Amino acid sequence: MAERVILVPERVIDTERGESLRDRAVVVAGERVEGLIAATDVPDGPRVIALEGSTLLPGLMDAHSHLIGLQDAGQGYSSLITRSGAQEALTGVKNARDTLLSGFTTVRDVGTFRAFVDVALREAIEAGWVEGPRMQCAGAYVTCPGGGGDLTGLAPDVDAVVPRELRFGVTSGVDQMRSNVRQILRYGADFIKVLATGAVLTSGTDPGLPEFTEAELRAAVEECTLAQTFVAAHAHGAEGIKRAVRAGVRSIEHGSLMDDEAIEMMAAHGTYLVADMYDGDYMLEEGPALGYTEEVLGKTRLTNHAQREGFTKCVKAGVRIANGTDSGIAPHGWNARNLSLYVRFGLTPMQAIQSATRWAAELMGWEDRVGTIAPSMYADLIAVPGDPADDITLLEDVPFVMKGGRIVKGGAP
Ligand SMILES: [Zn+2]
Repeated sequence: MAERVILVPERVIDTERGESLRDRAVVVAGERVEGLIAATDVPDGPRVIALEGSTLLPGLMDAHSHLIGLQDAGQGYSSLITRSGAQEALTGVKNARDTLLSGFTTVRDVGTFRAFVDVALREAIEAGWVEGPRMQCAGAYVTCPGGGGDLTGLAPDVDAVVPRELRFGVTSGVDQMRSNVRQILRYGADFIKVLATGAVLTSGTDPGLPEFTEAELRAAVEECTLAQTFVAAHAHGAEGIKRAVRAGVRSIEHGSLMDDEAIEMMAAHGTYLVADMYDGDYMLEEGPALGYTEEVLGKTRLTNHAQREGFTKCVKAGVRIANGTDSGIAPHGWNARNLSLYVRFGLTPMQAIQSATRWAAELMGWEDRVGTIAPSMYADLIAVPGDPADDITLLEDVPFVMKGGRIVKGGAP
């Protein structure tokens, strides 16, 4: 019989309905939630953790993290060829721990340049060797040659000898798309990340321009559907977004330069928007000191403000939203700062909480295990003093974190 622990907070957030419940206690048995009971019915016997004045909610979720790698900086991608795969992997140990201890118990990790290091981290976390969030992994970037997910800016002779693991998902044409997607999934990816447009951080690429044909994107979606998974599409420019939505991707990442037609299409198709908003502010503030190039800073200015306008329009149009931060641009562990911007640009605080719990779980297809506090869900729970449905910034400093029934931060007073 699994050990029982009962958590007694001041309020519990029901992320499915978007309501705060008072006078409830949450019973945890082993790694899962057994149920909610009236706070007055807490029996003698099991361990009771009083969280007075606190709000208990599901562990937070980031649908757009990059746990592998050093924090991005102005050196562009050159660190990728001056550092070994082992060094890259061990960055993930720190990043995963920082993420978990900040209250993020699940991430959808949307790519690493060195292929499948994310899968190795996921396995190490699952084995209990490394402290970190539950992960879904992309395995590699599926990108066109010289595109937003390629290692750009190299001299032609160096370019010719880059190891395959740094270019595993570089793809041209429908046939290669099918074979690369199949292989990335076979090597352990949970879903596929495609770069449908250029990227802000990748030198020589234009965020406004599409980088795959609709037929190429459709081939990726078809292969993922066969494998019972989905495609996440990095897309800034409107044409790239529309191709990706028509092809049937599950989410648009960034979505910075969308137009009204793209927003209507996303609403009609049920395509999620995963908008990283805090990282743009961070780059504009810290970018010059970090040594980002004028090219990158210029692209940040171009996308940052436009993204906010598009986000507000998406909220009004009923586009599904899931929290995603592009963590690794701003430091890992600062993930909750994104939610203040979701509130500033259109969501209520409760909706912002839902975007980082239940809605992110639905995006990932994991609503049967995380994102709500209900019987049979993993006991991934956090508590903060006060009410984050009044003040979303309270989630930026989480003193109590439980993952799978085990307290990883804070604990019994
Ligand atoms: Zn990203």
